[in-house]
Amino acid sequence: MTTTKYIFVIGGVMSSVGKGVASASIGRILQARGFEVTLMKIDPYINVDAGTMNPTEHGEVFVTEDGDETDQDIGNYERFIEKDILSTNYMTTGRVYQSVIQRERNLEYGGKCVEVVPHIPEEVIDRIKLAAKKTKAEIVIIEIGGTIGEYQNVLFLEAARMLKLKNPNDVRFVLVSYLPIPAKVGEMKTKPTQHAVRSLNGAGIQPDFIICRSEQAIDKKRREKLATFCGIEPKAAISCADVDSIYEVPLTFQKEKLDEQILEKFGLKLGKSDMKKWQNLVKKIKQVKKRVKIAIVGKYFGTGDFTLADSYVSVIEATKHSAWKQGLQVEFEWIDSETYEKDPKKVKELSEYNGIIVPGGFGTRGIEGIIKAIKYVREKKIPYLGLCYGMQLATIEFARNVAKIRNATTTEMDIEAKHQVIHIMPDQEKKLLKQDYGGTMRLGAWQCKLKRNTKAQKAYSKAVISERHRHRYEFNNEYRARLEKAGLKISGTSPDDRIVEIIELENHPFFLGVQFHPEFKSRPLDPHPLYMSFIKACTKNRKT
Ligand code: GLN
Repeated sequence: MTTTKYIFVIGGVMSSVGKGVASASIGRILQARGFEVTLMKIDPYINVDAGTMNPTEHGEVFVTEDGDETDQDIGNYERFIEKDILSTNYMTTGRVYQSVIQRERNLEYGGKCVEVVPHIPEEVIDRIKLAAKKTKAEIVIIEIGGTIGEYQNVLFLEAARMLKLKNPNDVRFVLVSYLPIPAKVGEMKTKPTQHAVRSLNGAGIQPDFIICRSEQAIDKKRREKLATFCGIEPKAAISCADVDSIYEVPLTFQKEKLDEQILEKFGLKLGKSDMKKWQNLVKKIKQVKKRVKIAIVGKYFGTGDFTLADSYVSVIEATKHSAWKQGLQVEFEWIDSETYEKDPKKVKELSEYNGIIVPGGFGTRGIEGIIKAIKYVREKKIPYLGLCYGMQLATIEFARNVAKIRNATTTEMDIEAKHQVIHIMPDQEKKLLKQDYGGTMRLGAWQCKLKRNTKAQKAYSKAVISERHRHRYEFNNEYRARLEKAGLKISGTSPDDRIVEIIELENHPFFLGVQFHPEFKSRPLDPHPLYMSFIKACTKNRKT
């Protein structure tokens, strides 16, 4: 292998058609052919990272090992190529401008007039090359966020065009498009895709492949139309109909010989493809029939009149991975915690589920509703997994109702409260006073040591673990002895014993809260041990 190869993935027609999954799937099938692959995401917004955005705006904030707060697509990449993706592989408009401006301030442009073009695209290219170098990737797949025709991603397309101009044999373009089948027309339409390709051509880019997302597979006629009007080979129109599980997509691409075609276009050797484990996974996903009913009690579901589970995608995927491994299909229910504030009796509905998850969250809205839910599942012995805020709120519930610390709460809810059993981390306090919010939480991988003979330690079968974090508040050690005396088990702490990382209860089938986010490390072929234990407990809590 002589030079690094670059594949840009660009969206056409509309968003949310699975560009992230398409990119990740391309990664998987090329990796299966023996290549060292990495994936990058470019987000066109000004935010320096995804950390300052409300999840209902932009979906889940994913956290990398090295503590970057990124778009949820990075999670898909990690799950599909089974490798950690680090901060170097993620950029936003804000991040790119920030470094160009900083360099200008440092006189690094040697007195030149620093311009949007070429200096911004050049910075983008530098970042792509840096990621290639750091990961030692032979093939770099770069997903450009947004859709073609938007003002926001123009400079990234320009970077892609410039890179291709300099390295014509090393750069290829994939357009992920959508082909609607209007109900009243009853026929698949290629016109929006034709327009998308025209716009892309206007940016100086000709796609090599068009991934045709649609309700159905494309037929010969559509394939030929796309070839004629979009200037691609008929076989380069990659049929990609809706599937039940995203994990089927790499297999769909293989059937369309996308891996072979890409390698051929790069002039790379066609090694034997090793997708055995992945095929088995997909087979299993399709066969598994038995159900496990899990309710996620959270607060980031609504977008207008629609309910979106996007905010919790890693939690959902991690739960599925473990369930599949145990021969189960998860039936999720999304419960907006505010319902229990309006109608506390409704909490009884939780007895219909095999298990309850309270995922991460911020702020005060909906929190008392979550605490009501936790009280119910603790008392009724329904398996409970609390993630980050879910662990903190479980601590509060225990403090209030078992340790009888009246009005126990978190500083996040009430800064003046007498009993802040969860309080701000000392180094975080200064940051908040300065309104220094961006990228300043306790982030990324931190070690945690486990106490022997606890549920947590049995799940991991290890003494020390490392998990990804994203929080500002923590268990208040002033209440540690009191809560432990009342029966709260602290089964994991930071190695110096200062930060409480895991709490659990005895005499309960499964009641466990973690200060971290185990879901970020779960992979379809390698489910996370805590999720595995939780699902196991759920299966024992059968309703029928
Ligand atoms: N809001 C809580 C904190 O900042 C929990 C964060 C989370 O759930 N990710 O500590």
